[in-house]
Amino acid sequence: MCTPFRVHLHAELPALPPISVPEELPENWEEQLPAAIGKIRTQQEFPRVYKTWLDLHPNIYSERSRFEWLTCLLSYASRDSNGNGIPDWGTIIDNAPTQILFPQDPDMDGDGVINAFDSAPLDVKIGKLFHQKALPPHLRINRRKRREAAEYQEKLFREFNIVAIDHTDIHSPIVLKELYLVLKNGFSKELLKKLNNIRYVYAFAGHDPLAHVASFHAGAQAISVVGVASYGARPLAQQERIDLISTLAHEIGHAFLLKKLTAEELAQIGAKYGGWQQLTSSDLPDSFFSRVLFQPYFFKVADSESFQRNNIVSQYAMTNRHEWFAEAFAGQILYKLGKLHMLGASWREMLNRNPSGGHGYWVNYNNLNDDFRQWLEVKQQ
Ligand SMILES: [Zn+2]
Repeated sequence: MCTPFRVHLHAELPALPPISVPEELPENWEEQLPAAIGKIRTQQEFPRVYKTWLDLHPNIYSERSRFEWLTCLLSYASRDSNGNGIPDWGTIIDNAPTQILFPQDPDMDGDGVINAFDSAPLDVKIGKLFHQKALPPHLRINRRKRREAAEYQEKLFREFNIVAIDHTDIHSPIVLKELYLVLKNGFSKELLKKLNNIRYVYAFAGHDPLAHVASFHAGAQAISVVGVASYGARPLAQQERIDLISTLAHEIGHAFLLKKLTAEELAQIGAKYGGWQQLTSSDLPDSFFSRVLFQPYFFKVADSESFQRNNIVSQYAMTNRHEWFAEAFAGQILYKLGKLHMLGASWREMLNRNPSGGHGYWVNYNNLNDDFRQWLEVKQQ
């Protein structure tokens, strides 16, 4: 099924449309429903995206679930609260049909206040313009109850125009602090201005803290991170800190990739610095979502020498070219912070970790060679 995303906890969601799935599905429903969504302005790509998705995942849901899902998407995508022709909710995320619909219209009710800054994003009568430099009260963390989290929320907003929003979990001061330090010391102000695809940082419950501390959501201009359920107020040990920083830098790396490189460039540097297959000009990807960019690494011999030569800083980096890049990007940021004495003593040893037990992957963020470091350094300016 599908459900719209709550841009903040106080935001009302439109009621779920009643959907009945008939005993016998109508003829051609799987062409007609996507075609109907495709008729909505800004959703023209939907039929193609849906078809591609279906070819790749033919048996993941039953016909009845797919019918229900498409009907749900059509219902939400048909809503246009302010009547400006742009639907409130979009149906495509990362070039795939979505189950969570993010706002397509930045100001759904048309009251002049963008959704997250609007205490009632779907009510045109409620929406107060606040001074640009201030967080609206419904987003502000209570300073008396959570002083440190509130301070970092304020700093992130004032200095980087990034809004930390409590969501299914509340923000941990530890995570916000490290995010602030990464942004402050790992990046130039000019670069951060260009990374306008990170505007919000949501605290989510339910991320597995060992495997999944954060994710980047391009469609929502957001990063989601774990909150107090995973990181309370307890100070982190050095290794834990480095792990958290590497995850944050990794997610920023995804945002950076989409803003500062092209898909073709990713293929080119993948071949040049990463030992990924060299693509001929007819295979070069025209989009970041081209399938070739999601193929896993193929090794003839996997040893530490080839990891080093190919700038493979972790097992996870071999998942696909996107992850290879994000991991290397994180490695370079860690190196920068280490050099600035921000990661404690013997930080270089701590960038090399072989987790025992079933959790996690091996990482060695030192596996970056000078050529690629230099390339990253120039791009990161
Ligand atoms: Zn990633």
